[in-house]
Amino acid sequence: MRIVDCHVHVRGEVDADELLRQLDQNGVDRVIVLSRAERLSLEETRRRLLEVKPLLEAAPDRISGLAWVNPAIDGMAELAAEALQRMGYVGLKITPDHWYAYEPRLASFWERMNDLHAGILFHTGILYGWEDASRFCRPVYLEALVKYPDIRFAMAHIAWPWCEECLAVMGRLRAETHGDGRQWQSYIDITPGTPRHIRKQAVANAISFCGPERIMFGTDCSLPNRIAGQKDMVQSDLTLLDELGLDDADRMVLNSIIMKFSGGPVGLQTIAASISEEPDTVMDVVEPYLLQLGFIDRTPQGRVATSLAYEHLGFDPPPQAQARLPDM
Ligand SMILES: [Zn+2]
Repeated sequence: MRIVDCHVHVRGEVDADELLRQLDQNGVDRVIVLSRAERLSLEETRRRLLEVKPLLEAAPDRISGLAWVNPAIDGMAELAAEALQRMGYVGLKITPDHWYAYEPRLASFWERMNDLHAGILFHTGILYGWEDASRFCRPVYLEALVKYPDIRFAMAHIAWPWCEECLAVMGRLRAETHGDGRQWQSYIDITPGTPRHIRKQAVANAISFCGPERIMFGTDCSLPNRIAGQKDMVQSDLTLLDELGLDDADRMVLNSIIMKFSGGPVGLQTIAASISEEPDTVMDVVEPYLLQLGFIDRTPQGRVATSLAYEHLGFDPPPQAQARLPDM
């Protein structure tokens, strides 16, 4: 599995070679670093962006950058565009700092970012160290971006303690995608912030409601000195994902399709009977999750286990999947 850490702060001078060494040590393939711009003026923001630029140029395949900007400052749309088009940044980092996304004074900034198809990582959730800014960081205020569908954005920290609100906003924006080929514009960054006792449930809810492809992993580590913890965080989230992966019923259904029916196709009734389960339970409880994870396909002849399912359960790839490959 490729590991991308999408949330690492730059807080001082960073040596690219040293960072690459640390990423190797921590088992991380790619990192997305956030430039430094807590409450800076336009000129100071530019200086910070230029500081990180050489790091982005050093290893573009492994180190990418988000330009931290404050859209409430006059002229910031221009600087953000410059960062994206000429400084090598792949997106923006924004913390709602005493403004709400729906305010008219920000409209021209969003319009410009919409034209550029910008990707934005928003801080959402409780905010430490910024006096009283947390109330501006609730996910629901980002609903305003529905007017700018070409902006793709992620909500950091699953917006803890407003995790449910975060999912509600995801669902709201997903509903906008029906019919006209419009892209679903939002993602969830599961970077901690979530206390240990709710993390597993919060991540599970996010995955099952939005699908794994909408989830981004991040650590909130800082460069240059606070990156050592990255390794532990990668490991603990991998363990968490493993635990969340499949429950007993999911495994029984997949095992049955693969072991008893050579990977399918096999009818739902037959699967249910083979594991002494009600067909309704398999259809309503187990199957939607397996479909969402891409572990089974529905065909007119019945259910088929995909090669992803074989891989996940540690089997050799299905012979019929190979046989189905077109002649080259
Ligand atoms: Zn952070």
